[in-house]
Amino acid sequence: MTADSSLTAPGVEYAATASEAYRAALAVIESVEPRIAAATRKELADQRDSLKLIASENYASPAVLLTMGTWFSDKYAEGTIGHRFYAACQNVDTVEALAAEHARELFGAPYAYAQPHSGIDANLVAYWAILATRIEAPGLAELGAKNVNDLSEQDWEALRAKLGNQRLLGMSLETGGHLTHGFRPNVSGKMFHQRSYGTDPETGLIDYAAVAAAAREFKPLILVAGYSAYPRRVNFATMREIADEVGATLLVDMAHFAGLVAGKVFTGDEDPVPHAHVTTTTTHKSLRGPRGGLVLATEEYAPAVDKGCPMVLGGPLSHVMAAKAVALAEARQPAFREYAQAVADNAKALADGFLKRGARLVTGGTDNHLVLLDVTSFGLTGRQAESALLDAGVVTNRNSIPADPNGAWYTSGIRFGTPALTTRGFGAAEFDRVAELVVDVLKNTQPAAASNGPSKAKYTLADGVADRVHAASAEILAANPLYPGLTL
Ligand SMILES: *Cc1c(COP(=O)(O)O)cnc(C)c1O
Repeated sequence: MTADSSLTAPGVEYAATASEAYRAALAVIESVEPRIAAATRKELADQRDSLKLIASENYASPAVLLTMGTWFSDKYAEGTIGHRFYAACQNVDTVEALAAEHARELFGAPYAYAQPHSGIDANLVAYWAILATRIEAPGLAELGAKNVNDLSEQDWEALRAKLGNQRLLGMSLETGGHLTHGFRPNVSGKMFHQRSYGTDPETGLIDYAAVAAAAREFKPLILVAGYSAYPRRVNFATMREIADEVGATLLVDMAHFAGLVAGKVFTGDEDPVPHAHVTTTTTHKSLRGPRGGLVLATEEYAPAVDKGCPMVLGGPLSHVMAAKAVALAEARQPAFREYAQAVADNAKALADGFLKRGARLVTGGTDNHLVLLDVTSFGLTGRQAESALLDAGVVTNRNSIPADPNGAWYTSGIRFGTPALTTRGFGAAEFDRVAELVVDVLKNTQPAAASNGPSKAKYTLADGVADRVHAASAEILAANPLYPGLTL
């Protein structure tokens, strides 16, 4: 059986073997809780039938998915490779070492930590590792102590106060930053004094001179680069220069675009790994692996990152680490580079499709995997546009745009991403058609009236549009099947 990680043309044998595996698994599940087997079948059917444009989602290969359903789930393995708080971890050691090795080789990182359960957890590990390296270790050295347990109550309180009073500079939420980059609802905003940098109001692009000015004034311990909704590439060499000038540690959160880094679409100054002190990511977005996280680090930060569990993480999910190893092995194949390039090419095709139909895009286009459409030009809020699109079978999510007139709940943007549908085999022509269908829905959606003016949530979609768009997308989806050859 030979695997093809592109999923667009899997070997016949691979598809047949995967089908057998799923049929058997579902029969076993059915014998205990048939409703779970039914929901599992329905989830595949729904994913097969919808135009999934959520920028943070993808479709992992059967090999990645099947790897998660094993007895590694039953094992406790707190600690690090070869140094566990539990006995009999030799096979977990093999798994974690392989996941870390694939990650180091793929990204060219000196050190990789495969345990984080998610992107948020990866950032928590990174933040505490930076605090441990930059604040705690020098604090202990100054007091002549080896270990926090050697400190008097008074010295410990003084050190704790320092740990809790550091500054972090990250990208603002409304220009595409992430909640974990120091915002108040997230624990990162409670751990750090936070300031944000934004984008240029004219161009929508990151203004590096403004980032440098903010860094000089605020003097952060940590400069965070990376985003969830910025449709452009970032110059990480410049970010590192800014960090170095003010003595900050550069943390790059590549959760969204790790697949483009892995696939060598982002190289040189656009590849974060050689420039950042610490790089974090999810493994399930453009990287197309299982749900989880990774931390990459320089030798300087590696020892502290390695203490992620049990510092902030619960026991490792060894079955997911095994699936990370499989996904990273896939991402090291030449086919993944073609995939990553297609993700970026397709985003351009989608953006061009919107622009030629008169729509307004934040920054005027894209050069990564996502497109941010300003729906105010259709007279809609993000909430209305998202709901109307969903009525027509187009799955997207609403998102703030810079200086959003509708706030963070209703928003004024719709974020589109190409990783998932590119996995299905969509190309530029299909994405142009997607743009046409989206514009058809939005042009035919009207805000409904509320008692005090137009509603921000309610809308009406003209008769027949949902059916028309459903039918058109069903045709493209059928021509680009999800998991071709996989039958339950
Ligand atoms: C998605 C995302 C995260 C969070 O990942 P989870 O796995 O959902 O915890 C963190 N940072 C960025 C930039 C993201 O886009």
